[in-house]
Amino acid sequence: MPLAHGRPYLAIPGPSVMPDRVLAAMHRAAPNIYDGPLPEMVAGLWPDLKRLAGCSGHVGIWLANGHGAWEAANSNLFSRGDRALLLSTGKFGLGWSESLKPLGVQVEMLDFGKSVPVDLNRVEAALRADRAHGIKALLVSHVDTSSGVKNDIPALRALLDTLGHPALLAVDGVASMGCDEMRMDDWGVDLIVGASQKGLMVPPGLGFLWVSDRAVTQCRGSDLRTPYWDWDSRFSATEFWQHWFGTAPTHHLFGLRESLDMIFEEGLEAVWARHGALARAVWAAFDAWGAGHPEIALNVADPAHRSHAVTAARIGPAPNATRLRHWTEAKAGVTLGIGLGMTGPGDPAGDAFLRVAHMGHVNAHMTLGALAVMEAGMQALEIPHGAGALEAAAGAVARFVAGAA
Ligand SMILES: *Cc1c(COP(=O)(O)O)cnc(C)c1O
Repeated sequence: MPLAHGRPYLAIPGPSVMPDRVLAAMHRAAPNIYDGPLPEMVAGLWPDLKRLAGCSGHVGIWLANGHGAWEAANSNLFSRGDRALLLSTGKFGLGWSESLKPLGVQVEMLDFGKSVPVDLNRVEAALRADRAHGIKALLVSHVDTSSGVKNDIPALRALLDTLGHPALLAVDGVASMGCDEMRMDDWGVDLIVGASQKGLMVPPGLGFLWVSDRAVTQCRGSDLRTPYWDWDSRFSATEFWQHWFGTAPTHHLFGLRESLDMIFEEGLEAVWARHGALARAVWAAFDAWGAGHPEIALNVADPAHRSHAVTAARIGPAPNATRLRHWTEAKAGVTLGIGLGMTGPGDPAGDAFLRVAHMGHVNAHMTLGALAVMEAGMQALEIPHGAGALEAAAGAVARFVAGAA
């Protein structure tokens, strides 16, 4: 008999769990878009979105998902024939490059595989080879949601500065915003791509760009802009209707207002710390499951380069990860993420990988509950695994709460 009745937990890395407060804020009749609470509320979103990113520049919202926000970035950054250096650490790096090629942007891709961060030596070599400074922008995922790799963004800025290379630093922050530390100004980031349905806890449908003054200046002549994506009209908007190029994303905006309130009530640094602590609990469990069982392992070896929003892991051999995902959903109400693009030898379907999200509106009981359900599933399915995972995860939570980690 399954034990799945009760509140289900969607532990996939987007869309993430929607807080009841966000849902309640969206539960209303269609609002007037010319006057009243909605236009009045929106003025406060811009400063709070900038605060979220540590951005003193510009922010724009498009009715779009992350792919749309990529396109907003692409069409403002580049002219046809411009060169981009794209650093890929998983499926989303590949995805960004695929979105650029049809636009006629020349993408040089450095592919670092799917389990290690960007290798700065290779980036340095590529930038040094570009003596004429033809590369207009360096594009990189902060967190690649498929692999769980987190890249060191300040190190890329330091490299550009050391080499005196003028390329803009553009970061995909779709998975990391509101989960992993991000300090746009301090880190010298020129552009961040974001979307509403991950750390921001709002349904899919809002795409964001945070953009530096430098990027606005260097991209004035970009000829790929079309009216809808052009950031100038968004950044210079003063009237409510000017921000949306048509009808506003009415309910999403009320949801976003609530989610930003929740983030700043908790405190942005506390939000980042919570994600770090829950991530460490997940890692501790996997380390225990994998002890003596090398077929179970975290995808990223170095903790400093693991996302705090999502953990990708191997539970081999195939199809054990998929069997476990099906079990946790059907028998216990916990939906885990698929092993997106994470195939290995003898595993063309990615059935040896899964992802555990700890992204957004997630607390200790949710993460510990998901891990306990995974443990139960491994027992039920007779997937061999090391002992002590739950104790290890609980210990990570206890140490964090006590201020010891
Ligand atoms: C989810 C995600 C995207 C794509 O967002 P969609 O809303 O699915 O189009 C892009 N980049 C990263 C890092 C993501 O996590």
